[in-house]
Amino acid sequence: MRRIPVPLLVLLASLLLTAVATAFAAQAGRAAAEAQFTNAVQATQDRIAARLEAYIALLRGLAGLFAASAEVSAAEFRAYVERLDVVHRYPGVQGLGYSQRVRPGEGAALVARRRAEGMPEFELWPHGKGPEAHAILFMEPETARRREVLGFDMSLDPVRWEAMTRARDTGAETLSGKLTLANEPGEDRPAGFLLYVPVYRGGTVPTTLEARREALEGFVYSPFRADDLFAGIFGTEREPRVSFQVYDGPEEAPEQLLYDSRAGTPELARRPAFTARTRVVVDGRPWTLAFESRPALEQSFNRSLPAVIAGLGVLMSLALYVLTRAQARARQSAERAVGLRDEFLSVAGHELRTPLTSLSLKLSGLSHAAASMGGPLAQRAVRDVEVAQRQVRNLADLISQLLDVTRISRQGLLLRREEVDLAAVVREGVEALAPQAERAGCAVEVHAEGPVVGRWDRLRLEQVVTNLMTNALKYGAGRPVRVAVSREGSVARLEVEDQGIGIEPEALQRIFDRFERAVSERHYGGLGLGLYITREVVEAHGGTISARSAPGRGATFTVELPLEQAQ
Ligand code: ADP
Repeated sequence: MRRIPVPLLVLLASLLLTAVATAFAAQAGRAAAEAQFTNAVQATQDRIAARLEAYIALLRGLAGLFAASAEVSAAEFRAYVERLDVVHRYPGVQGLGYSQRVRPGEGAALVARRRAEGMPEFELWPHGKGPEAHAILFMEPETARRREVLGFDMSLDPVRWEAMTRARDTGAETLSGKLTLANEPGEDRPAGFLLYVPVYRGGTVPTTLEARREALEGFVYSPFRADDLFAGIFGTEREPRVSFQVYDGPEEAPEQLLYDSRAGTPELARRPAFTARTRVVVDGRPWTLAFESRPALEQSFNRSLPAVIAGLGVLMSLALYVLTRAQARARQSAERAVGLRDEFLSVAGHELRTPLTSLSLKLSGLSHAAASMGGPLAQRAVRDVEVAQRQVRNLADLISQLLDVTRISRQGLLLRREEVDLAAVVREGVEALAPQAERAGCAVEVHAEGPVVGRWDRLRLEQVVTNLMTNALKYGAGRPVRVAVSREGSVARLEVEDQGIGIEPEALQRIFDRFERAVSERHYGGLGLGLYITREVVEAHGGTISARSAPGRGATFTVELPLEQAQ
């Protein structure tokens, strides 16, 4: 893992995230749509079943007419069907009919009776060799074309006979296989089927098969046009969410197609997102229903969303990669720059120190020589040399600050702890700075009651006191400076307070950082390192440093050091 560069890791991670999000969006969208599809399929199937159920009830009612009456006349049949108003109320129904079983020897009497009822051209036809003779007696509502079927023996057609025998043997209504029905002028022969309900002598369904076969009187039946029947399935739905096809039989054989809701629409060529097949048995007849999703459903789940997520994700991953790489590079070069700077400061510091040491030695030699000469000229020389020595010391202080900082950033602070009395350190520091205080015109007040002893690095502690004191004198505007040492529980506290120029609130935190300053360079010299070193020393001891100040109101620096060394 350490070998892979961070920007590449970022790229891989965000690409992975993109892939997961894309897959999730795709999966969730599809699952929701699939659930919708399943619901729509179920609803359509239920409507088909409900519609067929209504039609079956219609025929059962008609069968009831025959059960209730010993002999149903043509007029009664017509009156009954008229009241049902099938043409308007039951789309797809071609009419309601009654087909009578013609027992051997009964044919002539039947023909005579029908003719007497006002059907002079009534015939039994065709005269085939069927297993049993039947004849359509009534077909209502009556039209010229429907009148043509009267007298016809349906038992001669295998598809019809299959449904008829099934109805006769079971006593229940049956659906025939697919038929092509009589066509209107100018159209193809429409697909449809017949529904039969058996009628037995005596009205009730006999209990045994033998008895049912014997007692069969005939059938009430109805031809259906599949297209009209199924067209109303979706009711008022403007944009159906599924399309469906109905096949007679257990397979999707094209020649067995009863109905296709897509017929006449331009959608036949499209590839649906979802399809489903169900097999149902409708009144003893196996049907196959094939469903397909339609655009109305497919649009409800946005198929382009995953693509958008993927595209945006990849773009953002790349952007993130470029950004992190730029950042990594900037950081690398910044680190190199800091490294170079520290190295330069360290070399320069050491190089500057050597001539400064010999300069300092020469100056004290000069001072002794002048002092021993005597006379006003020599006295003046002694004073001048003193000034020069002070400047050399300042220079040396600055150089050692620089060296300190480079040392801290390279190896951290190494403390040499021993028992130290902070109060004593403060008193000595103030004494050593007395000449400086005098030059600054500041009176220095020290408050240190008893000794405050802890295990600290003495030299570093002296540095802290000197830095804070030097600043107080430097920025103290010649007003009094107060230094206090106290102990509070397990904490030693050092406060250095001046009444000088103060610090802007904005700068209060920043002045503790490297090279940070809050004064103009023209008025006050300095490198901005004193407080940084001070903070490093205090924190290395496990302590804290803070500043309180307002511009023009002086500043108070507070150092708190733990008396017991942290484990
Ligand atoms: P230097 O004094 O060399 O600039 P320091 O790190 O000691 O660097 O201080 C950083 C800055 O904090 C100073 O430049 C000054 O703006 C501000 N500062 C420090 N002590 C005081 C103080 N007693 N009063 C006002 N400003 C101060």
